Amino acid sequence: MIDSYWLGERLDGGFSREDLRALLTSSDEEAREIYAAARGVRNGIFGDRAFVRAVVEFANECRCSCLYCGMRVENRAKKRFMLSRDEIVEIAARASENGIRTFFLQAAESEEYDADWLGDVIRRIADMGMMVLLCVGIHSEDDLDLWYDAGARKFILKHETSDPGLFAGMKPGFTLADRIRWLEVLKEHGYQVGSGPLLGLPGQTVDSLVEDLILMKKLDVDMSSVSLFLPAGGTPLENHPVGDVELGLRFVAAMRLYLEDTLIPATSTFERLSVDGQLKCFMAGANVITVNMTPPGVRDDYELYTKRFYVGLEHARRTIRRAGLKETTEAELLENE
Ligand code: SF4
Repeated sequence: MIDSYWLGERLDGGFSREDLRALLTSSDEEAREIYAAARGVRNGIFGDRAFVRAVVEFANECRCSCLYCGMRVENRAKKRFMLSRDEIVEIAARASENGIRTFFLQAAESEEYDADWLGDVIRRIADMGMMVLLCVGIHSEDDLDLWYDAGARKFILKHETSDPGLFAGMKPGFTLADRIRWLEVLKEHGYQVGSGPLLGLPGQTVDSLVEDLILMKKLDVDMSSVSLFLPAGGTPLENHPVGDVELGLRFVAAMRLYLEDTLIPATSTFERLSVDGQLKCFMAGANVITVNMTPPGVRDDYELYTKRFYVGLEHARRTIRRAGLKETTEAELLENE
């Protein structure tokens, strides 16, 4: 049985590294109590509510060489695509018609699209009254300002791992220190930021996952997430085993208990690896689910990993209901926080 002392009093008073480690290495019986505590924290802050956002992955050309990603620049056989501005805006309009009020523009890191091009897309979507969230990698500070002025308010930049050596090995040419600095830059430019690790990287330890939690706390992120590693064909990690679902669920709960007032998505990698994986994330404290609206003709080419699970709107809404939550919008959820 888990020690009620740290489930009760010390949650409010802060955690030690040992506490966070204990959360991540808890037994199944302990984990059930931890998940219940995480749901309690979520419901206490946000109410028993969750929201649906929509993502469109609009370009897969990438200048980076991340060892785990099917879109890495070395993967020359990969078919590259880029949606037009009108296509993206039409998809956003469809999301809006379906009651989705947060639109997530995601792309690989590239100069294929320029700042004005993306700024125009952002402005047209923001003009529909939608919250615009970006996940497009590292660009110039001028670009950040242009996109903010166009209406983007949120930016996700995953740190992937808080282990500097592992980071450098997984993302050749980049350093963790620069990544962290860039998250600070995003905040300086007015953005609410999101970050999180990829769980299951080779050589990643529970202690480094503890450091992931501490890093996100220090950064005071508004959005935090964990994705499970799944291999992409044709990459150096194509034969590496997948991330551990049970550890991932404990990580979701640890984010909720430690970071508290953060938006946590139930990511599709959980559903890909486990029946009802996203429902399990909600039961561990998540409160967001992302519907994939990338056109079916190109979405397999946005190959973060092979054989992705694509979240549809019906599945998203049903999962929220099954978790005993009510669907709301992001703005309403944050308004009553
Ligand atoms: S993870 Fe992102 S930055 Fe890295 S290779 Fe893939 S698309 Fe490019």
